Amino acid sequence: DGQAGKYVYDFTEGNKGMKGLLGGKGANLAEMTNLGLPVPPGFTITTEACKVYLASGSEPATLRREVSAHLATLEETMGKKLGQSDDPLLVSVRSGAKFSMPGMMDTVLNVGLSDDSVAGLAQQAGDERFAWDSYRRLIQMFGTTVLGVDGELFEDALDEAKRGRGATTDVELGTADLKKLVKAFKKIVSREAGRDFPQDPREQMDLAIRSVFESWNTDRARLYRRQERIPGDLGTAVNIVAMVFGNLGPDSGTGVAFTRDPASGHQGVYGDYLQNAQGEDVVAGIRNTVPLADLETLDKASYDRLLEIMEILENHYLDLCDIEFTIERGTLWMLQTRVGKRTAGAAFRIATQLVDQGLIDEAEALRRVSGAQLAQLMFPRFDDGAKRDLLGRGIAASPGAAVGKAVFDSYTAIKWSRSGEKVILVRRETNPDDLEGMIAAEGILTSRGGKTSHAAVVARGMGKTCVCGAEELEVDTKKRRLTAGSRVVEEGDVISIDGSTGRVYLDEVPVVPSPVVEYFEGRMHAGAEEAGELVESVHRMMAYADRRRRLRVRANADNTEDALRARRFGAQGIGLCRTEHMFLGERRELVERLILADTDEERDAALGQLLPLQKADFVELFEAMDGLPVTVRLLDPPLHEFLPDITELSVRVALAESRKDANENDLRLLQAVHKLHEQNPMLGLRGVRLGLVIPGLFAMQVRAIAEAAAARREAKGDPRAEVMIPLVGTVQELEIVRDEAERVIADVERATGTELKLSLGTMIELPRAALTAGQIAEAAEFFSFGTNDLTQTVWGFSRDDVEASFFTAYLEKGIFGVSPFETIDRDGVGALVRSAAEAGRATRPDLKLGICGEHGGDPESVHFFHEAGLDYVSCSPFRIPVARLEAGRAAV
Ligand code: PEP
Ligand code: MG
Repeated sequence: DGQAGKYVYDFTEGNKGMKGLLGGKGANLAEMTNLGLPVPPGFTITTEACKVYLASGSEPATLRREVSAHLATLEETMGKKLGQSDDPLLVSVRSGAKFSMPGMMDTVLNVGLSDDSVAGLAQQAGDERFAWDSYRRLIQMFGTTVLGVDGELFEDALDEAKRGRGATTDVELGTADLKKLVKAFKKIVSREAGRDFPQDPREQMDLAIRSVFESWNTDRARLYRRQERIPGDLGTAVNIVAMVFGNLGPDSGTGVAFTRDPASGHQGVYGDYLQNAQGEDVVAGIRNTVPLADLETLDKASYDRLLEIMEILENHYLDLCDIEFTIERGTLWMLQTRVGKRTAGAAFRIATQLVDQGLIDEAEALRRVSGAQLAQLMFPRFDDGAKRDLLGRGIAASPGAAVGKAVFDSYTAIKWSRSGEKVILVRRETNPDDLEGMIAAEGILTSRGGKTSHAAVVARGMGKTCVCGAEELEVDTKKRRLTAGSRVVEEGDVISIDGSTGRVYLDEVPVVPSPVVEYFEGRMHAGAEEAGELVESVHRMMAYADRRRRLRVRANADNTEDALRARRFGAQGIGLCRTEHMFLGERRELVERLILADTDEERDAALGQLLPLQKADFVELFEAMDGLPVTVRLLDPPLHEFLPDITELSVRVALAESRKDANENDLRLLQAVHKLHEQNPMLGLRGVRLGLVIPGLFAMQVRAIAEAAAARREAKGDPRAEVMIPLVGTVQELEIVRDEAERVIADVERATGTELKLSLGTMIELPRAALTAGQIAEAAEFFSFGTNDLTQTVWGFSRDDVEASFFTAYLEKGIFGVSPFETIDRDGVGALVRSAAEAGRATRPDLKLGICGEHGGDPESVHFFHEAGLDYVSCSPFRIPVARLEAGRAAV
């Protein structure tokens, strides 16, 4: 990416491909500079320098010299020197990592101001008040971020100054007030930080750079990275940019713009503008902004230039861009751009819009969306027909329908959600300290701030429902209540927020399926009027994916309803029918009888009763999936799961015995429960082992499958049954079961006069099976990787326990970024999958390979299975569209 030993790049030296080295902000500032757009000059200190600092505790030895050289160039360009007393160059020191982490890391503005240069700035700007306001902002920002002083102390001093003046906003403070405030701020710094506010501009800059490096590892930055799955070792770049001022009067200002609406994808003028304000005021949501379109009347020349630049950017990046800009006395400056975050719906719409505009091709369109976004679009929304009690409206900042109890601080949000309550976090505005509360909440509601406020940006990133800027609502966090006109919502009252419309309702509003689900269900058709643009885009993107994917997608389903849904959602068969689900309910008693059988006759009788029930299950399933493969897995879980709970039964028997009326059956049952009780049932009598020790069990199931297939043939159907043996560790186990199964199938074929062509295969879900896959393939026509058990046994992690016990600690320590039960562990479990697939195919070139663990519906894992050369993934019916889309994305 960069040159060895070079830690600083001028904006003219970089480009948008250098995000890893220069961070997103630095790379894009360089790109815009080279496009000839008005970017204030500056330079970027690389993420490599940050990494060195974080690893060793000090900056690379050559960094100071490099910074000095670039600073000298910058000073020459600007014709003034950093902090120079009569005409100071001021700079901002801005963080900027490879992946955007809004508001998570440090930024310091106005660096270079001092007791000395503040007068020079006043004179140059012809505005004394402005200079002193900039100086007090520097001390405040530097004090809190660099020197770690509690920000409240500055806020309190500011409030006091306002009170002394009878002022409500800081704009009403005059030069004399601000001078006094600077004095007070400096005192706070000296007292709290144990050192004076540095007067040397270069020292200010160096300390600010160091503090940006360090802000990579603050708690909130780490938490955000974990949430967003951003690796912890990337480091941040630091951008040193010549200051331009949006707070120089009414012909100045600062704003944020999108080239398209990040919520709908529509082209137009979207954004917020704040007159006479500096940089961070907009994103912080502190003062209320005006819509960007109003800039046309405020400053037509800048507005036109901005629109022109927006078009240049969109045609250059071929995507939605978001932009931060500042206008200094009528001159427009670009402070940042990046390919903008968007809602899931907008991502789909924009991708197809860009295809229609001829800007990108279908493959590129697929890269622009994700399975996670599609999953989000499948969430339910509020029922249009339901009665609802509107409290007020805000800005639709992040879509979805969220219902929960109103809470007014993060702490309560976390506490209540831990005890199982659904909560809506209600704040005037959020700041980075609210992050944990936002994660815990179902949705976020704020009364201040626009589409680009902290709450909105972070919620969109997390896929959380958010309504912001609901100004009709008065939020009082101290009294823990929300008032809307005459109505009051107290902490704990239920509210519903609609992130797609911005509406806020009292009480619970019922939710209905999303239009995207209605579309997959076949209840709504693309192109139909009520379907709308979103369904149309999803429809088209699914077609792009289906045309390109090599992986087939099957469903994990064991009943007709799921099978039919899976089929509607595009499943190309059933990859896993777990037959244990067919042994529950009323049939449990039959299983009990099977387990309790003392004699062959008793056992055969129980099996004989189960057979027709199983057969009927399969007939239905094969009919639902007519023409498509259905993999039926023989019984897997430990038998005691079908028996009563050991403690309950013991108590019942003990009580009965004390009354001297214990019944014979309970006593036998208790005996059986004791006999079958296992310390480690997951590693005990389950899977193929059951088939080997319970005579006739697997034979009965195979017979049911074979007879069901024959019955379907008879009915002119096209059953494609596959018999799958679970938890095999050695080929010998498989051979024994296989011989028996083949005898049964031949028997049914003879009796019915039909050739059934059932295929027989196995799950690969134990390390030994994976390691001896070459041998196992001798006896198997297909493998299906059971990555749940494989993860459990490769890691030695109990799949039922670890996520609740120590995974949080593991995630916090960064041992893994996501549970290996959720996303396949490529290096460990994944390596075994690869080698087993290879060994299996070496033995049997036409061996069919699938995967049916939970990972089959996980976007990242689907890409892995594509790379590993599997034939199909199998996942739960609702994940099928996600798997189809990701399989298509993996293939482009
Ligand atoms: C597996 O282990 O991955 C699997 C699909 O089987 P089950 O989850 O039923 O154990
Ligand atoms: Mg399993």
